Amino acid sequence: MTTTLKRQKELILSLGGMSCAACASNIEQTLNAVPGVCLASVNFATEQAAVQYDPDRVGLIQLQQAVVELGFSARELDNGVPDQDPERAQRAAAMARLQRKALLGSGLSVILMVASLPMMGLPLPGLPTWLHDPWLQLLLATPVQFWCGWQFYLGAIQSFRHRRANMNTLIALGTSAAYFYSVTTTLFPRFFYEHQLAAHAYYETSAVIITLILVGRWLEARARGKTSEAIRKLIGLQAKTARVIRDQQELDIPVERVQVGDLILVRPGETVPTDGEIVEGQSALNESVITGESLPVTKGPGDPVIGATLNQSGSFKFRASRVGKDTALAQIVRLVQQAQGSKAPIQRLADQVTAYFVPVVIGVAVLTFGVWWWVNGDVTLALINAVGVLIIACPCALGLATPTSIMVGTGKGAECGILVKDASSLEVAYKLTTVVLDKTGTLTQGKPSVVHVEACNYDGQELLRLAAAVERHSEHPIGRAIVEHALAVGITLPEPQQFEAIAGQGIRAVVAGVTVRIGSQRFLGEEGLPVGAACYAALRDLKHRLESEGKTAVWVSVEAQVAGLIGVADTLKPNAARVVRALQKLGLEVVMLTGDNRATAQAIAQPLGIQQVLAEVLPHQKAGKIQQLQGAGRIVAMVGDGINDAPALAQADVGMAIGTGTDVAIEASNITLISGNLQGIVTAIALSRATIRNIRQNLFFAFVYNSLGIPLAAGLFYPFTGWLLNPIFGALAMALSSVSVLTNALRLRQFQAREIG
Ligand code: ADP
Ligand code: MG
Repeated sequence: MTTTLKRQKELILSLGGMSCAACASNIEQTLNAVPGVCLASVNFATEQAAVQYDPDRVGLIQLQQAVVELGFSARELDNGVPDQDPERAQRAAAMARLQRKALLGSGLSVILMVASLPMMGLPLPGLPTWLHDPWLQLLLATPVQFWCGWQFYLGAIQSFRHRRANMNTLIALGTSAAYFYSVTTTLFPRFFYEHQLAAHAYYETSAVIITLILVGRWLEARARGKTSEAIRKLIGLQAKTARVIRDQQELDIPVERVQVGDLILVRPGETVPTDGEIVEGQSALNESVITGESLPVTKGPGDPVIGATLNQSGSFKFRASRVGKDTALAQIVRLVQQAQGSKAPIQRLADQVTAYFVPVVIGVAVLTFGVWWWVNGDVTLALINAVGVLIIACPCALGLATPTSIMVGTGKGAECGILVKDASSLEVAYKLTTVVLDKTGTLTQGKPSVVHVEACNYDGQELLRLAAAVERHSEHPIGRAIVEHALAVGITLPEPQQFEAIAGQGIRAVVAGVTVRIGSQRFLGEEGLPVGAACYAALRDLKHRLESEGKTAVWVSVEAQVAGLIGVADTLKPNAARVVRALQKLGLEVVMLTGDNRATAQAIAQPLGIQQVLAEVLPHQKAGKIQQLQGAGRIVAMVGDGINDAPALAQADVGMAIGTGTDVAIEASNITLISGNLQGIVTAIALSRATIRNIRQNLFFAFVYNSLGIPLAAGLFYPFTGWLLNPIFGALAMALSSVSVLTNALRLRQFQAREIG
């Protein structure tokens, strides 16, 4: 099922040192330019780069080198359940550094602000005059400029080396302009005096800007830590130790040392250490951490258990079948991480804007300076306005707007048992018009049972024996039902020969020398059996009756003669009708898709309130049906059990696999509803809507500050209203915009999977 080419590999780099979205786009461009890289995508919010590359042409070392040359750090992220500790320590140290600088900056800035109040026309009585001494101000401003603000210079220099510019460039340029201008007025006051220029020092401007941006980044870093909370929670679910039984002895060992095949004892209240199958004992397990389903599930010998779920009442022994990075939990963590790192199409716009923004802004700033100087003749004012433009224009909130919401949204999904594979599925799910539901296994339990056996010219027991023998090798739920029924009434089954299954139609095999066929009406026709013989006529009414009751009737033929009919009934999932209603309430058109007979399908659809039924669709036609709907302008979600519906899941705009997250299901779908609870469809769509709405709000917050701020700072409104933007307010607005974007994204954590009624 893997779609990637064999030659291509993917790795995730954990990046360090990025300060804004423009850094992310720099790294992305650089990585994409490395020969042998097929596709690199950098996510600013997760601080990760996903790189698809040709292992014959390029390796980890070269990729790391490319990033390091840009002035950032890169480390490969392990594929197992990631251990976040090293990064966490790093992050904490970076936070502490940021905090120290922000604190010192704040202290010095406050003094500088107070000292400059009189110049702003707010004379403070009792303020000591020595505070106005420009030399003292120079002394106070210099550490802020170069110690607190060092990272901006560093970032600016590094990107300049690659002929690029980013947010650091803007801040370094803006604050340097204010600072060095002030230094000049301090050093050469006579020059300004002689040329009748106002020799105002603007030390506080640059100091306050640097401080505000640092405080903004500090708040941002704190909030960003919270967006990855979901992953941390998932990882934290893992048991630390396992009680393994080796050589008849119970041993407590660290969970990392458990091997496939180990026998493990789990007591009440303990966490299941890894995936496996129960060998002995019985218990109720709370699997909500994996499936989102809060009702405990009773399990006994032969039943699978999932690592990280909680054992409630009994104790049991199980054999480990998957450990380490193969466990369901590790797979989920990996998928969520991938999804969090993926880009929603809506973000491409923001990325493009970010890449072109900075050079344009520098241009606007130069223009502002020139025009103001020329028109007004006041260098100071011209300079201050140009600084204002540089500061307000930083595109950093724009870069955060989409990825932070995606991170919180996908993390939230995982908490509700909804695995979203990539950000674009979330975005598409927002636009859905139609939900196509597979019948068997999706709307119904998928565990049918035999309700009727009618033979014609044949002994009923014998008919069942032949039928069940043929179905022994069938994977189909109908087959399993027939076999179970036969075994339950005590029939021993012979071994079939020349078994052949025709997908979506039926099966054929030779049992004890006679050819037996079981399948749909269409199957009889395709196999060239005489429809219209006496037996067929005798059973036709029964078939119609069963079908009108929503049961599936399959024909059994022996030696090319119709010999009987078997009626099979599947029960609807208890909340099927409610879920259909909820989907319709969301404004979605609900369609049922099934390979089953039309009459049966209709009988099931009707009480559910589904008007549109696509019945008697062969497995290979299912994808075509979806395509037809798409051709008619619908945006389609397909919900299926994931194995035989795989092509349709892949064809749909959003494929939702219902089930326990088998590899095939996860592979073919965009969204996996782990618990198999239909409610997940509604929750997934609601979550998508909430996430996309959140992104739009974020983009608004990000754009509004920038787009209103730039003309204001450039002084465009000045001739009409006298409005100008003090660069300090520019810095404040910028810090606010990042913080408001993050705060808004974190609001998504409150999303709740509401039980629909
Ligand atoms: P669905 O789309 O509901 O999952 P399928 O496409 O798997 O249904 O099967 C369609 C129809 O083909 C069934 O309703 C049944 O009539 C017939 N069929 C398929 N496989 C078998 C089988 N193993 N035994 C009997 N009938 C079968
Ligand atoms: Mg099915």
